[in-house]
Amino acid sequence: EAKHNGRDGIIVFNEELCELVQRKLDIERLLHFALEKDEISLVYQPQIDEKNLVVGCEVLVRWHNEKLGFVPPDIFIPIAENTGFIIELGEYILYEAFQTIKEWDTSDLGIKQVSINISMRQLMHQDFLNTIQRAMKKYFRYGCEINIIFEITETSASDDYRSLVRVMNILKRYGITFSMDDFGTGYSSLSYLRELPIEELKIDKSFISQLADVQQASLVKTIVDIAKNLNLTIVAEGVEEEYQREYLQELDCDLYQGYLYSKPIKKEEFENFCRK
Ligand code: C2E
Ligand code: MG
Ligand code: MG
Ligand code: MG
Repeated sequence: EAKHNGRDGIIVFNEELCELVQRKLDIERLLHFALEKDEISLVYQPQIDEKNLVVGCEVLVRWHNEKLGFVPPDIFIPIAENTGFIIELGEYILYEAFQTIKEWDTSDLGIKQVSINISMRQLMHQDFLNTIQRAMKKYFRYGCEINIIFEITETSASDDYRSLVRVMNILKRYGITFSMDDFGTGYSSLSYLRELPIEELKIDKSFISQLADVQQASLVKTIVDIAKNLNLTIVAEGVEEEYQREYLQELDCDLYQGYLYSKPIKKEEFENFCRK
């Protein structure tokens, strides 16, 4: 009897595993056609300063497929990174985002900065600098007042650290600045943080969501202290509750982003959000 149950258990497990594997294969296969089938779109999440003014936004990618529905970027971005599709996808996102930034730059919306997530694989790709140069020539031939920020994450303390710093410095000369995303969740060492040419640090939402915990709160204070010492702009991501914002404001965080203010929204909605 027990054996029988056990076997059933294994069969169920296998079916679930099969479904998971099948879904991953579906994602991989269908993702490949996502651009040509026009299934990729961008949304924008407002960033707010201490005076409650909108300073800009983070650009976030969305993928809707008729068979799979909405697939979250946490799922498909790592797959795109592994298959190499991130290069094509990343370039598309970049061009779309630049086009929007150009429109905003000549508007009266008062947008100061726009952040774009860039995968390490994309940043380190041999054609990346050329791609950026081409995109900037196309959209910002006459300059751009809006500060364009590339958000990068601390991956396995890059084996190719020197090339990383080199690429980042070249991009800085193009007027791009850098933000360290999801700070505290990866492999970053403090020296990494000090040596990379970054201007901004984003405290990961996993810390913000646990601010009710005294130990977590003091950890966040430590992160803010470090960032201030390094003269970095501090962005808190995933701010959902008023008490979180109050605590972060006591610590003198610079920018706030989260559902408390707005979810990521479509371009027109964001423009309306700015006007309010
Ligand atoms: P991320 O760059 O750290 O982006 C922040 C994520 O937190 C977004 O999830 C955002 O929707 C979510 N978020 C913001 N405020 C709140 C909040 O108050 N509560 C909660 N629970 N979540 C909040 P999203 O859009 O699903 O993106 C997930 C991750 O996928 C991003 O994390 C980023 O690593 C990656 N990603 C998204 N768009 C792009 C892109 O265009 N390029 C690349 N390379 N990666 C992207
Ligand atoms: Mg980000
Ligand atoms: Mg983040
Ligand atoms: Mg994150």
